[in-house]
Amino acid sequence: MTSIHGRSALLPEGWARDVRVTFTGRTIAEVNTNVPPSPHDERHQVLLPGVLNLHSHAFQRGMAGLSERRGVCVDNFWTWRDVMYRFALTLTPDQMQSVAALAYCEMLEAGFTRVGEFHYLHHDRDGRPYADRAEMAARICAASAETGIALTLLPVFYAHGGFGGLPPRDAQRRFINTIDGFVQLLEGAERHARHLDAAVVGVAPHSLRAVTPEQLQDLCSLRSGTPLHLHIAEQTAEVDDCLAWSGQRPVAWLLDHANVDAHWCLVHATHMTSDEAARLASRSAVVGLCPVTEANLGDGVFNAVPYGAARGRFGIGTDSNIRIDAAGEFTQLEYAQRLAQRARNVHADDGLSTGRAIFNGALDGGAQALGVGVSALRVGCDADLISLDPGPAGFASLDGDQILDAWIFAARNMIDGVWTAGRKRVSGGLHHDRDRIAQRYGQVLSEVLA
Ligand SMILES: [Zn+2]
Repeated sequence: MTSIHGRSALLPEGWARDVRVTFTGRTIAEVNTNVPPSPHDERHQVLLPGVLNLHSHAFQRGMAGLSERRGVCVDNFWTWRDVMYRFALTLTPDQMQSVAALAYCEMLEAGFTRVGEFHYLHHDRDGRPYADRAEMAARICAASAETGIALTLLPVFYAHGGFGGLPPRDAQRRFINTIDGFVQLLEGAERHARHLDAAVVGVAPHSLRAVTPEQLQDLCSLRSGTPLHLHIAEQTAEVDDCLAWSGQRPVAWLLDHANVDAHWCLVHATHMTSDEAARLASRSAVVGLCPVTEANLGDGVFNAVPYGAARGRFGIGTDSNIRIDAAGEFTQLEYAQRLAQRARNVHADDGLSTGRAIFNGALDGGAQALGVGVSALRVGCDADLISLDPGPAGFASLDGDQILDAWIFAARNMIDGVWTAGRKRVSGGLHHDRDRIAQRYGQVLSEVLA
């Protein structure tokens, strides 16, 4: 039994003072308010539920800093993707685990307690499956186990190089499966994930570019009730190609051809008309927004106003992991809208501050998309939480939503402790195994770059 005490805490019903949260094993057993700390309580200033990161490609953390130089032609998402493919073609399973472990260590330090790993780097470097088809999924599970981040593993089905079943490119060979091969891979991933605390396994058709309508139908019926994630409309060229293929935009096509419901997460629903946004919101699916990556890749700006007006659900992801920073994702989400709308506090809602409205939205949408239902400081939920210390940044006199707003918009170094499954993983802002993981990552990166 562990008890931690916060001078304030964000509970499902709102802010409370003098809160003691008690865990038994990995679950929250008691939440008491207006109680003084007991002698054995670990004391903190502000307690929050952990943030959920609904979209990550962990291996891309290794590319940070490698793609910020302009090529001979116009640089865009597609030229970045060529760099990413070259990087993906080199990684061994050991290297994959080392890179993923650093990414997950940094996620925990940033306040993320669960990650949705959209995992598509499956096969050996020549494109042949490993003896265990789920070898790379096992390495993702191992990185989750060694860092302590909770995992929603989303094995990706990828078969084609463009709309209408175009053949894949040679550079995509490590991602490609038949449906039968994918079923084996999924079973292997489920077997490996069983050894983890609280892991969830979903299914991820990569995108409408990479699967045919028949394959999409097969994938939807593989595991009913589990999370279904796909990339949907990240790039305007993707929208144009979808229009040329089907006469419809990607979101409209998907809503007409699949039973999109609360199990679905549409990642990068960046390019939606207002009509698509309202229709998607009515299906209770979650939109996966990755504001820092979307800005880094020059994707475009999400059509937030009609989607928000229709009470559409959203969560956030770190996607390419170019910068792993929960507060930074929230900031970028809001600032892109401020620049586009020439307005302030676009996401503020129902008397909640902007930071609080974004935090609440991402918590609910993230928990739904990652198959955990609810993430909160509430009895029966997983003991996944973070503590903030506003003092060192000079924010000790702030209260309630002001603290979230200060963390998000002003001082991202406020995170002090992070717990997952009832165990403390981060103290003083640093992961307990950071030195070993960072050193191994440094060795791997020099091998890969050589
Ligand atoms: Zn992605």
